[in-house]
Amino acid sequence: MKHLSNISLKDHNTLKINASCSNFYVIENKNDLSEMIKINLGGSRHVLGAGANVLFKSDFKGTILQIVMNKISVLKESTKHVEVEADAGVVWNDLVEWSVNNNLGGIENMTSIPGLVGAAAVGNIAAYGQNISDVCVGLTAYEFETGRFKNFSSQECGFSYRESIFKNELNDKYLILSVIVRFNKNPEINSEYWSKKHGSVGDVLKDNGKPPYTLRNVVDAIIKIRRSKFPDMNEFGTAGSFFKNPLVSKGELESIRKLVPNVQYYPVEALHYVDNLLSVDSDFVKIAAGDILDNGMGYKGKWSGNVGLYKNHALVLVTNGEATGEEVDEFAKKVSEDFYKFCSVNLEREVVTI
Ligand SMILES: Cc1cc2nc3c(=O)[nH]c(=O)nc-3n(C[C@H](O)[C@H](O)[C@H](O)COP(=O)(O)OP(=O)(O)OC[C@H]3O[C@@H](n4cnc5c(N)ncnc54)[C@H](O)[C@@H]3O)c2cc1C
Repeated sequence: MKHLSNISLKDHNTLKINASCSNFYVIENKNDLSEMIKINLGGSRHVLGAGANVLFKSDFKGTILQIVMNKISVLKESTKHVEVEADAGVVWNDLVEWSVNNNLGGIENMTSIPGLVGAAAVGNIAAYGQNISDVCVGLTAYEFETGRFKNFSSQECGFSYRESIFKNELNDKYLILSVIVRFNKNPEINSEYWSKKHGSVGDVLKDNGKPPYTLRNVVDAIIKIRRSKFPDMNEFGTAGSFFKNPLVSKGELESIRKLVPNVQYYPVEALHYVDNLLSVDSDFVKIAAGDILDNGMGYKGKWSGNVGLYKNHALVLVTNGEATGEEVDEFAKKVSEDFYKFCSVNLEREVVTI
């Protein structure tokens, strides 16, 4: 097991925060796990993926564990499906590319999401109409306290919007080792996602070529949309959407619409916007917080020192690569406070603050 001490985490988090860490262990194989149990880790512990969804508020005076095992193996195959086990250290986009190259459907709309497979399950990643919870059959994890391995079914993972049991009740109890994904051998193109600003995935597909569309066409279309929305990670520090889109009652939505008439909203579990409240069954809807920050509050592109909200997408916090964790934390707090003052809705963080 590789061990580094007193290192900078700047290259280990996409917000580019230059926090330091006392102990950094790289887990390269299962034997390292038995070795790990013998080490007195002391202080606090944090499992780090690619750091695309974390904010290091200050130096981390504890132990960071990073898993780099990165095998993709086919477990079983039927006429319709293929089940694949991906190690937690597989780069998420490598799994997407692997599936698209093998014409296996299910995660192609989630192309280009930064990070590793383990964290994808922890944060129940989603994009453009697909969620990992829709295709994840289960996962294997290592329990820190007992040193035992445990298999979790998809249901046991407790997936919900950007959440799982590993971010809640089981936070810091398990190290996810691998995730099982069920792919469709006869992929159906999922191009329904649309937003007022970026149109639908279907529109972009049409602009780029003629049907029948392939999974590769979908990936190319989504990369095009993402480029117009997300900052270039070589230029900015960013963790993608820093905040979650809030869940509000239909009544609250009506009050918000008085402030921001064109605010987009969508059914809680869906990822596409709707134009008609009557088409939403539940009493609650998710609202596009970016619309409120942008059209209601004029916060899109607003900066304070080294931290800002991205000019093309107000939910995306960006840094110039020089910001401290404290500065980002203060800026994010201020945005949430102002948001609450504006529309009386809590703006929760999607990003894990450490
Ligand atoms: C430009 C940009 C665009 C993005 N777009 C999207 C998007 O479209 N959709 C979306 O859902 N997200 C998006 N994100 C957020 C981010 O990519 C995801 O949350 C991703 O899954 C984070 O992966 P990571 O490996 O970097 O995890 P990290 O940030 O390192 O960790 C995230 C959490 O998972 C825990 N964790 C990580 N690995 C393990 C493990 N093996 N076992 C146990 N716990 C673990 C960590 O402790 C932490 O709590 C975007 C981020 C960026 C920077």
